[in-house]
Formats: sequence, C-alpha cells, structure tokens
Amino acid sequence: MDLLDTLVAKGLSRELPTREEALAVLATTDDELLDVVAAAGRVRRHWFGRRVKLNYLVNLKSGLCPEDCSYCSQRLGSTAGILKYTWLKPEEAAEAAAAGVAGGAKRVCLVASGRGPTDRDIDRVADTIAAIKGQSEGVEVCACLGLLSDNQAERLRAAGADAYNHNLNTSGDNYADICTTHDFQDRVDTVQQAQAAGLSACSGLIAGMGESDADLVDVVFALRDLDPDSVPVNFLIPFEGTPLAKEWNLTPQRCLRILAMVRFVCPDVEVRLAGGREVHLRTLQPLALHLANSVFLGDYLTSEGQAGQADLDMIADAGFEVEGTDRTTLPQHRSAAAGHGGCGPCGGEEASCATTATTATTATTATEPATETEAEQALEPAGTGAARTDLVQVRRRGAGTDLPPNA
Ligand code: SF4
Repeated sequence: MDLLDTLVAKGLSRELPTREEALAVLATTDDELLDVVAAAGRVRRHWFGRRVKLNYLVNLKSGLCPEDCSYCSQRLGSTAGILKYTWLKPEEAAEAAAAGVAGGAKRVCLVASGRGPTDRDIDRVADTIAAIKGQSEGVEVCACLGLLSDNQAERLRAAGADAYNHNLNTSGDNYADICTTHDFQDRVDTVQQAQAAGLSACSGLIAGMGESDADLVDVVFALRDLDPDSVPVNFLIPFEGTPLAKEWNLTPQRCLRILAMVRFVCPDVEVRLAGGREVHLRTLQPLALHLANSVFLGDYLTSEGQAGQADLDMIADAGFEVEGTDRTTLPQHRSAAAGHGGCGPCGGEEASCATTATTATTATTATEPATETEAEQALEPAGTGAARTDLVQVRRRGAGTDLPPNA
C-alpha cells in the first residue's frame, strides 16, 4: 500500500503524518491488518529494537474520588466493587514495588486517586519514593497524582521522581462528554507543569469510550504537540457500576489499528500497551508487541491483569526481550533532550488517573463458560452492550490487601 510505505518513511525520519493518513490507518480493513502491523512494526524496531520495557503499578490510594471521570471505577458515584483504601505507608508501597522490580519492571508507577495532591500528599509520596529508591537501585519512579498545583512538580522532582503521568484521555472536543469536574486544558496544564519541572512526561489516551476516529486522531495529535516521552494507550475496561459499563466497542483488530496509528504519529516515543489489553486484544496481545515497546506487568489499579509470568512468557514467545536497567529506553536524541538521566517515560492504568486510574483488566486466563448463558455471552461480538464479567475482574490482591501482588 502506498499509504503504508509513506507512513514507514515518515516514521523512520520522525516526520508527522497528515491527519488524513492517520485516519486512513484506522479505516483499513481486516484483510490489510497484518500489513498495517508489519509497517508500524518496522518503525517500532527502528527506534526500539525488540526491547519491551516493563512498568509496575502501585495504587497508593484507591477509590473515593470526588471527580466524575466516567471511565473510572474510582469516580464519584461509582458502585464498582473495587478495593477502597487511603494512603499506603511508604514501606507498604515499597514492598509492592519490590515485587514488580523482581518481576523485571524497570519503572514503578505510583498512582493515587483524587483530583490532585495536597502538599502533605507530596510529602508522603516523597517518603515513598525514597523508600523505593533505597531498596532498588536504578529503578525509575513515575508519580501519577492528578492535577498539580504550583511548585508540586518541582517538589516531586526534588524528591527523586523521574516522571509524571497525566493522560489527556480523549480529544478536547469530546472531553466534556467523559468528565465535568475538570477539563481538557487542566490536563494539558499539568503535563506542561511536569515538563517544566524537568520530569519526563507520560501522557496517553483511552480508546473505546464511544469516541469517533476523528477524536482518536485529535487526541494523538494533541499528545504529539505536547511531546511526552511516553504515551500509554488504554482500552476502556467497561466496569460494572460506572457510566461506561456497556461500552463494548472494541475488537482486537481495532485495538491494533489504534496502536499502529499512535506509533506512526509518535514514532520515537515510548508507546505503552496499558489497561484493557487483556480484555480487548485477548489472544492477539502478542501482535501488539510489534507496535508498543512498553507494557504494564501484572495487575492494574483496580482490576487484575493476567499473571505476571504470562506476560513474561508472551514477550519471550513473541521473540521480544525484556529491557534491562542497563539500557536507555528512548532513542539517544530524545533521552538527551529529556535532561534527566535518559529515563524513559511512563504510564498509568487506565493508567490514567487523571490518567490512570481506571482501568480494569482482565482475568488471568480464560475459563470454560459454566452455563449456556455464559457460553453465549462469550461468543457475542463487541459492541453488544452486554456486561462481560468473564473479562473484567476486580483486583483482590497486592497493594491494600493481605495477599501478595501479581508480578
Ligand atoms: S481518573 Fe483519577 S481523577 Fe478521574 S475519577 Fe478516577 S481517580 Fe478520580
């Protein structure tokens, strides 16, 4: 396809595709899907080889948020049966983080629900960063605490944070449809505050919330303008008890097209396969590794991912390798510009509290449907609006529980 040849050439030279080209990627057919993956895979390998960066989420504070992000299980009015707890102690968070690092994660993402941190919260997170860095030399720490106030980004940087995550989530035009308690510009401002303080910016999107192709292209172009070091791509996990519980709009093929489009628009940026990958890509997850160079290991904030060992096996089976702490994630021209040790970028669960907060993920492995109803449900195509409790499993282990984390 001329389109794909053009996009590969642009990706290798870091040239921005046109909006029409990005839209055309989303409009490709299933017959063209493997050609699209192969083309975007060439761009991914050019900048990141076959390396996969692992990131590990620690939910420092879960639920009870006053904001109304409609995709989020922790939102105001959510009746999702998630874990609810207040701030973990630094040693508790460090214990959870250690499990992720032992599993191969080189970045720990510290996430807290809420509109944004108080100055006292920044103190708590500073103590947590010290505890994590004291036990794991070389680990990168990304904070994801919501909207930042004056000087908070600088304080996080001084405390040793490498990165800050705050997702744009959807287009500016669509933002009011998914949240009314803050707006798109609030999010842009926080990403820019983090960058101004010398933090590596991580900012991404959530697909599958009923947005149009134009919305998806708009948010990815807005991200490109912001120039974050990492872009987590979340796929909505329709959590029962949230307004978007019936939004089952994604197919594995559409998820791959979205990831390919993000790779073409952000060719040399860490593209992270984030929340919802198990739910929506299902058995096609390994193909996504040809597009994304980064994934979350184990569980998400309020939902369970597949077993950490299954993540590692998938990466090895697909012919990729886990990126070690001895490797710099970003290409040299980007890590030099980052100006702080070349740390790679970050993510959140729907790494997106105010980026990550939401997502839910899937159950470990598929189980045999026990009843005829469940069997029928398992065969239903996406977009039917039926609840898929077989795919979305609330997190019941790790941080905030007495059970060991999944890593
Ligand atoms: S995404 Fe963050 S700010 Fe929005 S409701 Fe969830 S926890 Fe609150």
